[in-house]
Amino acid sequence: MKRFFLIRGAELAALIALVAVPLFVSNPFALGLLTLLAIYGILLIGLDVTVGYLGQVNLGQAAFLGIGAYTAGLLVAHAGAGILLALAAAFVVCLVLGALLALPALRLEGPQFALATLSFGALAVTVLNEWEDLTQGAQGLSLARPALFGQTLDAAGFYWLCVGLLALVWLGMKNLLSSQWGRAFEALRDSPIATDAMGVGAYRHKVIAFAFGSALGGLAGGLYAFDFKYLQPHSFTYELMVILLLGVVLGGRKSLWGAVVGAAFIVLLPNLLSSATLFRVFSIIGLIIALLGVIGGWKDKTALRFQSLAPVVAMALLVAGSFVVEHTEDWRKAIFALMLFSVVVGLPEGLMGFASKLLTRIFRLPAAPLPAASPLDAVLPRQQAEATTLLDLRGLKRYFGGIKAVDGVDMVVKAGTVHGLIGPNGSGKSTAVNVISGLYAPSGGQLLLDGAPLPVGSLYRVAGAGVARTFQNLQLFGELSALDNVMVALRDTYRLPWPLVLLGFARGEEKRAQAAALALLQLVGLDQQARTRARDLTYGAQRFLEIARALARKPRLLILDEPAAGLAHPDALQLVDIIRRIHGRGIAIVLIEHHMDVVSALCDAVTVLDGGQVIAEGSAEEIKRHPRVVEAYLGAAA
Ligand code: ADP
Ligand code: MG
Repeated sequence: MKRFFLIRGAELAALIALVAVPLFVSNPFALGLLTLLAIYGILLIGLDVTVGYLGQVNLGQAAFLGIGAYTAGLLVAHAGAGILLALAAAFVVCLVLGALLALPALRLEGPQFALATLSFGALAVTVLNEWEDLTQGAQGLSLARPALFGQTLDAAGFYWLCVGLLALVWLGMKNLLSSQWGRAFEALRDSPIATDAMGVGAYRHKVIAFAFGSALGGLAGGLYAFDFKYLQPHSFTYELMVILLLGVVLGGRKSLWGAVVGAAFIVLLPNLLSSATLFRVFSIIGLIIALLGVIGGWKDKTALRFQSLAPVVAMALLVAGSFVVEHTEDWRKAIFALMLFSVVVGLPEGLMGFASKLLTRIFRLPAAPLPAASPLDAVLPRQQAEATTLLDLRGLKRYFGGIKAVDGVDMVVKAGTVHGLIGPNGSGKSTAVNVISGLYAPSGGQLLLDGAPLPVGSLYRVAGAGVARTFQNLQLFGELSALDNVMVALRDTYRLPWPLVLLGFARGEEKRAQAAALALLQLVGLDQQARTRARDLTYGAQRFLEIARALARKPRLLILDEPAAGLAHPDALQLVDIIRRIHGRGIAIVLIEHHMDVVSALCDAVTVLDGGQVIAEGSAEEIKRHPRVVEAYLGAAA
């Protein structure tokens, strides 16, 4: 309750304050700045979807601002459209263009993605500039602000429209990001492979996120057009882009407040640089924040590290400069550089990241309470375990160039059994399960699940067919809590169409998902750590969490690739216990394992690989005495 009132209360207070401003302030300059604040707020919330949630450097947002501005402006200037129609058009055009850009660009990663968006920006501005018949090119496009429901909007009216739209965007975004959509965005940033393997569809979510963020850029562009009433293509070049990025990073990524704080910074920037007093005040605030960082780090002895000291030095330089330099404008690039440096080094989580840490400490905000765990039978229904063939591999092959990692493997896994897959290092075990789970396409052979061909070469589609897996090298969503890791993967849980999610109707569904995820965490003994970030869990707990996450898929077949690797003895015992419990639910398991005692304790049948081929199969006891197995293992040991 306390949490709810503090967070919602702050939002409401800010909104009321913003709405009330024109009643008390008649200064047109101040109102103009606040109008811009709302517009840039929408723009940065959109940019934060890619930069914060997807973790990609997006250099295209300035172009979407421009495209939105011209779409709305041209519709008004040439077609006499009303304000709402023009804004809707700006939103939709950028949504479509964003999706079209994302389709190829999001196949790329990291720097290549950044370059693709940069090229798009250059292309867009050139087209706006050269298509003179339509846009009047560099000469610029003048327009009049159209009416809203027949009413001409004065400065205050237009301001209210901007603030109203910002509030709507804020609310919709908040609802979206606290639903499965937001979790999926963050999950695919941490591990696209695992996102696909958990049946979420990394690529689809990336494209949707990017298109939506771009559409918000377009909406902001429409407002921008009606604010300035004069458009020139060169306003939307990459210099603006750099400032926008600085705004997002400085404000704080993955935060709506952060976007608005960043927007305030962008709006104030020109004034900051032209007024010596303002700049002085700003530098001193910066220095104080940097010093607070040092004081905050005093106890845990991080105070004297580079990360804390460098921003103090940089900010002290700014303060000194603010007293020495006369024309701050001339130094703008150096000033940007110092600020960007301090933020990236000292405040990687931005002002809001810093503030929210401080606030949680002051108010000791309790985490929102969790519901009681669902009964396990509801989350993981017991499957009847008839000994029919579940997975059937026939002549499975996978080559890497000349390496025959898997070379004609036949293997049958019966429903409801634990099937061991063993063999020396490099014998092709991981490759075999990577092919089964769709990470790799097979070079030859057949894969059948329940008699039907299994999809090949797609983690996402194999996950849909009822196969779940863990990874030999952990692929958790490190930044997400243990609970969220499991919630991302829950199957058949999130049915609400997205418009209703935007409107905030997903709460009930979320509660049910939390209860289900808790039941699975309980199964692996992690329910007490539900709120812990995955990367802060112990190594053993991380392994168990991957298992719980895979179980959220309600799999028919669960593949565990060396779950015991690196586990301390007590954890290994707990692992055996967990696998027994999963087996008890009637789920078939393929278990890759090195320790023969674990294999003997758990496996109903064992297949032994060497050099990509099956050299033996049978019960654990038969395998242990098999001459070729003895030879392979002794050979590997020698
Ligand atoms: P295991 O899991 O049994 O230790 P792997 O399936 O990981 O064995 O590897 C089998 C063989 O395939 C090894 O020789 C390995 O070097 C090779 N291999 C595995 N993955 C790749 C890959 N992505 N590219 C090239 N070679 C690979
Ligand atoms: Mg392996």
